[in-house]
Amino acid sequence: MKRHFAVIGHPIAHSLSPQMHESAFKALGLDADYLRFDVHPQQLGDAVLGLKALGFAGWNVTLPHKEAIMPYLDELTLEAQRIGAVNTVKREGSRLIGHNTDGGGFLRSVESLLGDVQGKRAAILGAGGAARGVAFALAGKGMKLEILNRTPERATRLAQDLAQAGGEAAWGSLEEGPWLTGLDLLVQTASIGLHGETYPISLRGIAKHTLVVDIIFNPWETPFLKEARKLGCQTLNGLDMLLYQGVLAWEFWFEKVAPVDVMRRALLSAL
Ligand code: NDP
Repeated sequence: MKRHFAVIGHPIAHSLSPQMHESAFKALGLDADYLRFDVHPQQLGDAVLGLKALGFAGWNVTLPHKEAIMPYLDELTLEAQRIGAVNTVKREGSRLIGHNTDGGGFLRSVESLLGDVQGKRAAILGAGGAARGVAFALAGKGMKLEILNRTPERATRLAQDLAQAGGEAAWGSLEEGPWLTGLDLLVQTASIGLHGETYPISLRGIAKHTLVVDIIFNPWETPFLKEARKLGCQTLNGLDMLLYQGVLAWEFWFEKVAPVDVMRRALLSAL
């Protein structure tokens, strides 16, 4: 019997998830499809009931529903509970399980470049939903974190949540300072650069060995990432994070290894 999957969000037309997941179904000969649904926030509860009633095996959740969907689910994985957001739902019998693969996806995207991260230093710019996923994943691997956000209260809350989970994190507002020196990893998660905007702070003084990541992938190189590259740092955009959050969602649904190369090629050709 054909298994149905989907992504829900608002707006959703830009999502590359259907191409990525369908390429993997095809490569492994699975009888499954993956649809895209634009769900208005006021219709979220009805949409979840509808997907359940129609027998969908699982779905991805994107903006603005990642937090709002939680009360409609029967169970949350530890990752979803800690991050406070869900990007993947799996149906098990009549139960809906909420999971979050954003942080795990980020980790997979940088681990081949960083090696063992235990005890290394990272700064995260931004403290929204994506930053929470990244921060919990890195803290879980023993990295020492600094969270900097335009609204410092949000950075404080994230650092306190990390500390409660056994992580180590300082916090501050999004401004230049000594935090920039001695970093192993710098991650830009704020929604700045999507339209070519220049970044509010400069990276002058950053060490060349720092890996600099901007989780935005469209545009391919934001002005932030361009500055880092010009300063001699190794840089990475957010496409691999998108890829690996999809790989982990796929593996959560099917409990087998996903065809990563096929999924990467599908994403690149869809872009
Ligand atoms: P949220 O809305 O949850 O958070 C947005 C963050 O950006 C907040 O920290 C906000 O700060 C900050 N911000 C927004 N505008 C400005 C500004 N002008 N100056 C300074 N800070 C600003 O969004 P998400 O965390 O879900 O997503 C953030 C970005 O990450 C988006 O661009 C999204 O496309 C990308 N993303 C990429 C993924 C991938 O797989 N590659 C996965 C998920 C997201 P404040 O708290 O002060 O408002």
